[in-house]
Amino acid sequence: MSGVTEPPVGASQQAVVTDGTGEAWAEEREVPEPGPGEALVRVTAIGICGSDVGLIHGEGPPWTDYPIVLGHEVAGEVVALGDGVDDLEVGQRVALHGFVFCGTCEGCRDGRYYQCDELKEIGFTIDGGYRKYAAWPAYTLTPLPDDVSDVQASQIDSAGCTLHAMHRVATSFTDTAAVLGPGSLGLYGVQLLRAQGVDDVVLTGTRDERLEAGERLGATRTVNVREEDPVEALMEHTDGRGVDLCIEAAGAGDVLETCVQSAAKQGTIALTGVFGQQKDLDPDQIVAKELTIVGGVTAAHAVDEVIELFRRGDLTTEGVVTHEFPLEEFETALDTVQNRRDGVVKAVLRP
Ligand SMILES: [Zn+2]
Ligand SMILES: [Zn+2]
Repeated sequence: MSGVTEPPVGASQQAVVTDGTGEAWAEEREVPEPGPGEALVRVTAIGICGSDVGLIHGEGPPWTDYPIVLGHEVAGEVVALGDGVDDLEVGQRVALHGFVFCGTCEGCRDGRYYQCDELKEIGFTIDGGYRKYAAWPAYTLTPLPDDVSDVQASQIDSAGCTLHAMHRVATSFTDTAAVLGPGSLGLYGVQLLRAQGVDDVVLTGTRDERLEAGERLGATRTVNVREEDPVEALMEHTDGRGVDLCIEAAGAGDVLETCVQSAAKQGTIALTGVFGQQKDLDPDQIVAKELTIVGGVTAAHAVDEVIELFRRGDLTTEGVVTHEFPLEEFETALDTVQNRRDGVVKAVLRP
């Protein structure tokens, strides 16, 4: 192990743990020594993800392994290196992607390592970033340029998930796109569509302050679905044609049905939200309009691109990251996110 200043390996620190029974609590943990191929990271910012709240309530992905230290949307600084790490340096600022994979299964050999048969995910299977120091495989850490902040780096996962789903569909300059759901995925989605040259982006949701944030970030029209029927509004906006691309970023309510009803002929629907339950769809609409429906599940393939978009100013966290809390105030922070208090869109913890 090598480090410029002696990292506090073996010292005790507080980590936020859950077992999926509805509670998260602080627990004493040792600062780990980085093993071969690992880096010890001093965590500087962690985004609170909707899936963290789900994990606390027992709704983790199939690869969840309780009890677990929460946190996968992590920015930090490398403070020590284990043996055999030669592509990172102590002092480097980094962003985490949480995917730990085998490298030999069919998905891995095909470059889809986020679909590894043995997939482990930091913050779900391997202890995550709700703590000050953590050791993770060096290949999960991407160095950051100076002009991308720690808070921006903690948002790479959210923005990257939407971008990855968008990589799976074709967009054109003349498209009308709809983003359903003005949470962080949707608000990054609006910005990403505009950055890709799609100039007509409609944002739908239930909260005016989030829709207003979407307008400031480039949405050309917003629809509060409590006041307007979203299908009618989208059809009227497109003179009855329907939208070319629907990005579902809500994971709740009737948004799937809205996508299918409001898509144009040969339109595309990209799903990024997690519903946690079965939903009805009208298959005849899919057949008759020849719709394409794709899903997107990871940010790991979009990390470099999102870093570049933040650096260029094509992406901003303004209006998206609305709250920051010290790590010790994790209970207040989680409560704020879970119960959508105080106009929160995205909250970030600072250890
Ligand atoms: Zn996340
Ligand atoms: Zn694999």
